[in-house]
Amino acid sequence: MNDFEGLSALVTGGASGIGRATADLLAERGARVAVLDLDPSGVDKPLFAHRADVSDDASVRAAVEAAVADLGGLDILINNAGIGAQGTVEDNDDTEWHRVWDVNVVGMVRTARAALPHLRASSHAAIVNTCSVAATAGLPQRALYSATKGAVLSLTLAMAADHLREGVRVNCVNPGTADTPWIGRLLDAAPDPAAERAALEARQPTGRLVSAAEVAAAIAYLASPLAGATTGTSLAVDGGMQGLRLRPV
Ligand code: NAD
Repeated sequence: MNDFEGLSALVTGGASGIGRATADLLAERGARVAVLDLDPSGVDKPLFAHRADVSDDASVRAAVEAAVADLGGLDILINNAGIGAQGTVEDNDDTEWHRVWDVNVVGMVRTARAALPHLRASSHAAIVNTCSVAATAGLPQRALYSATKGAVLSLTLAMAADHLREGVRVNCVNPGTADTPWIGRLLDAAPDPAAERAALEARQPTGRLVSAAEVAAAIAYLASPLAGATTGTSLAVDGGMQGLRLRPV
């Protein structure tokens, strides 16, 4: 399937997990792909790599311009960089709220702002934001993280409306717990990682974690010209959690 032939894509947080799987998949399907990441040291050809921090506007602007120069234009932005936070509203202070919000929400705004002038010049322009089941599931011990993903969901809808007439589609994916280095780090920090993993799997409606490749496939669909009639929507890749109204406890 070479449905991305002739198209250029930028993937934030593309050095690991869902972002890396997406960057690789888009490249396999014919796109020219650049990765923007805090640590792009493991990213190699055919991907272009750019070091940037989505919480730093100047860094994002410079990396987007450098990526567009490498790619020769920009058709697709995958706004995927994000970080986690655990706890109730009493567990995270203002500094932590600002830090995580600045990456997960404003980071996507900054990257979109830098990319939009280039996307408007494309006849297949698409933005896909990586949201989460946390946006709507009411997950315990995830107040800050859930609030950022709720904002990503709202932002997706607002951007889809604002840029509809400019030919830029904007959608998001809502992954459930996905088997990425992020979850690996969470498990490693647990007293009994194997038991923690089993508990996490047991909480999934399908009894297993979502794979990064499964999320990447959904992102690729929303970014592809085949999804030309789809904007302002969210696609769940969560083992049935959202659709079946199930929720981990
Ligand atoms: P990951 O930690 O494996 O990869 C995240 C990447 O983002 C890393 O390469 C990291 O260097 C980069 N990054 C982090 N902060 C950055 C910053 N300030 N600037 C630039 N790059 C930065 O994580 P993942 O599991 O692949 O998660 C990717 C996205 O998917 C996140 O937005 C996350 O919220 C979302 N998500 C993950 C899961 C899950 O269970 N893994 C579930 C739902 C949603």
